[in-house]
Amino acid sequence: MRYKSTRGLSPEVSAFDAIIQGLAPDGGLYIPKELPRLDSAVFDPNLSYTSVAKLVLAPFFAGDPLEAEIPSLCDEAFNFPVPLHFLSPTKAVLELYHGPTAAFKDFGARFLAGFMERAFSIRKSPMMILVATSGDTGGAVASAFYGKKHIEVKVLFPKGRVSARQEKQLTCWGGNVSSYSVRGAFDDCQTMVKQAFMDPELKRQYGLTSANSINLGRLLPQSIYYIYASIRYQHQCGEKPVIIIPSGNVGNAVGAFWAKEMGAPIQKIVLAVNENRTIPDFLSTGVYEARDSIATIANAMDVGDPSNMERLRFLYHDMETMRSNVSAFSVSDDRIRDTIAAVWDDYGYAVCPHTAAGEYVRRHHVASEHTVVVATAHPAKFETIVEPVIQTELPIPESLEKLLHKESRYTEIDPEVSALFSV
Ligand SMILES: *Cc1c(COP(=O)(O)O)cnc(C)c1O
Repeated sequence: MRYKSTRGLSPEVSAFDAIIQGLAPDGGLYIPKELPRLDSAVFDPNLSYTSVAKLVLAPFFAGDPLEAEIPSLCDEAFNFPVPLHFLSPTKAVLELYHGPTAAFKDFGARFLAGFMERAFSIRKSPMMILVATSGDTGGAVASAFYGKKHIEVKVLFPKGRVSARQEKQLTCWGGNVSSYSVRGAFDDCQTMVKQAFMDPELKRQYGLTSANSINLGRLLPQSIYYIYASIRYQHQCGEKPVIIIPSGNVGNAVGAFWAKEMGAPIQKIVLAVNENRTIPDFLSTGVYEARDSIATIANAMDVGDPSNMERLRFLYHDMETMRSNVSAFSVSDDRIRDTIAAVWDDYGYAVCPHTAAGEYVRRHHVASEHTVVVATAHPAKFETIVEPVIQTELPIPESLEKLLHKESRYTEIDPEVSALFSV
């Protein structure tokens, strides 16, 4: 399989080159030249998650320098359960939060980390990952790359602007992962990362690369769970489900649209967003307008200019095709809180604020009986919002609990690139 840029001005490359480069040289995002049809073997509802993963990924890495490594990489990266939890006979929740940092970003980050570690056998030179984070991504990336050989990771977060549990997940590592508490805002952290990437000497000397959500290596693994879950759902309920996805940067949802185009039994895909209305407004007006992001209680979806929209617009190029495939609804903080309470009252089931936005959309905007809401994070990750609403203390998942007891280590720095590289 070869990959091309959404902007059409870069040469076609292998998956290997697309993943190591991150962004295409013309500034576009890498996408597969064509989406393969699913192998018929994948429709067996009794296959394990890793068996589905290997079948789904095989055509994407056909002819790739690391093709032979993909099966072992799947076994290593996807070593946690992926349950489809039924609230009622037709209403399911796809729980994507059973990985080490209790959010769906573990899937992409763990696959990418395993891939980059194996890339050393071909590149023969070490790499350094820089990641600026305001929450979930940094924790998933740090956890996934911790202990990987030939790769160093630097995590930058804004001092005093992440929650106590989030900070712990960013600073408890050591070894090949260094954490920096930056005296500034998230935007300062992001600017430092961009400046480092623009310096050819730094880039060459340290083998700088990025692990952000536009990387193809994070996206491909996000198709697998939609294929796995829709096949199981159809087997159990006899119908294709509507899948409702809490969305911000739309990387998770692009995985679902690719899965549907490859032939997964999905009736329709519906996006749930918070008060950042860029996507629903685009679908209603036909004009894409990037905005500044608005802070909400579903903060991992606080995105005003979702970068993966470029991939979606490439897939469905005219407005009519876009509207017939994509729908999106905005959910306010008040409605998110009410829905956390309603799901708890109805089923004794706790959901995080992002998942609650999806549940609101299921209850108010989807006519079909047959629905799957994607649970993007464990509710205990957002305990300061969820616990007061349900008036119950949530047990912390074991993997997260382990991190919370480790010692924090970080360096406090001024927002200057040089501070990252002076020892
Ligand atoms: C990152 C994240 C999202 C948004 O996912 P996108 O791929 O950016 O659309 C939703 N919920 C949680 C918990 C997240 O961490």
